[in-house]
Parts: sequence; C-alpha cells; structure tokens
Amino acid sequence: MGRARKTISALKQKQLLQEAESQCPFCHDQDVSTFEFHHIDGDPSNNDVSNLIVICSSCHTRITKGILSTMDVETKKKELCRSYRSHRTTGQAAVNVNITSSAFHGDIAQNITKISGVKAPRIAHPSGSIGAALAMKAYIDYLIARYFDYRKADRSYGRSIPFSHAVIHKNIERQFGAKTFFLPESIFPNLVAYLAEHINNTIQGRRNGSGGIQNYHSFEEHCRKYSLQPNKVTPRGGPFEKGF
Ligand SMILES: [Zn+2]
Repeated sequence: MGRARKTISALKQKQLLQEAESQCPFCHDQDVSTFEFHHIDGDPSNNDVSNLIVICSSCHTRITKGILSTMDVETKKKELCRSYRSHRTTGQAAVNVNITSSAFHGDIAQNITKISGVKAPRIAHPSGSIGAALAMKAYIDYLIARYFDYRKADRSYGRSIPFSHAVIHKNIERQFGAKTFFLPESIFPNLVAYLAEHINNTIQGRRNGSGGIQNYHSFEEHCRKYSLQPNKVTPRGGPFEKGF
C-alpha cells in the first residue's frame, strides 16, 4: 500500500481505449468523458497495460464497493485482450480515439486518469464488400501499408510531396465511387491493380522493378502467409457488427 501513483502515458491510454472499443466493458456505456482507468491489482504504481482496464465511473464505483469482484474484472480483462488481439491479426482497423485532455483528479475510488475523447463510429462493412471479406481486407491493408513504405523511401531520393492515408483513401473513392472497404468484392482485382500501379510507380518501386525485385507479394501468397481463407467473411454478430 501507499505506493506512488504514476501517470498513465497517452499511448497506453489510447491502447486501453482501443482494447475496450471505447465502451465500458461492463455496462457498454459509450460516454468516454466518464471513463476512468482501474488498476486491477490495486497497485496504483503498476501501470502495466495488463494491469489496467478502462471503465465508466459508475462501474468503477461498483468495483470499489465490491459489487464487481476482482475475479469479474480479471475475466473481463482477459476477454478484452483476446478480442483485441484477434482484431489486430485479422487486420481490422483499430478504433480511433482522440485523447483531448488528460489530468489527474483527486483520490476518489482507485484513481484515475480522466479522459475525454471522441468516439469513432464503429465501422461495419456490408456483406459482399471488400471490408467484410477478411482476406481481401487484409491484403488491401497490406498493399496500402506497402505503398506508404515506398513513399517514405522516396523521401530519401528527394521526393517530398506530402501524403497521408486519408489521401489514398480519397483517391480510391474518387476512382471507384465508394470508400475503400465498402467497395464490392467484384472490384477487388481492380483495386489491387490500382494500388499495385501506385506502388510500382514510386521511385523505390521503379528501382526494384528494373532490378527484378518484387514490390509486393500476391494475394495468394498473402493468404498462405497469414493462413487466411480467401473467401471467408467477417462473422456476423462480431464486435464490429454492433451498431450497424
Ligand atoms: Zn460501466
């Protein structure tokens, strides 16, 4: 007891919010402004991510009053970790959270870093869209990441046109008429070709091409590499279907 409370870094706060999908894991309250961080083992100096869980203030009170047991909290934390990891490995976009302020408050309950933020809408991709097809979405994520790596490499050749993820997604929307992951599966080959062309046309891409180096691996290779089934779609009722 009596161990010093330490500030939870903004990065950890963000990670914990993403893990919780910006809702209280107990009552599913989505009012981020009431959210607090609870130290599961009761040690306020242990800011290990595995020891922290984000919850709303009323559920926090339920913990400190013993209405929710440590066991309940530990079980919930395990569930969150598990589903967070599986989203990451399936290439699901993490929920974006903006931490607009973070400051320490007094010592009510197990304190607490107060945060306020903006909840990003949970994206549910309709069936038949690229976003709903796990492997296709993962491969498009891969190609876009690849394109960004190449654009970054181009800077070392003196090319310094600013670029961002928003720009490529805007360009895709302009080209194909819908947002990247809302495009129908039938557009997948065209989208792959479009991104491939962008990668190949970077300075780094052209250098690799003339040197016989492949700029990216194929969809089939990607599926093999990450054990993805090309036709598997996001299971309905999964966390990203809520609110759809
Ligand atoms: Zn709650």
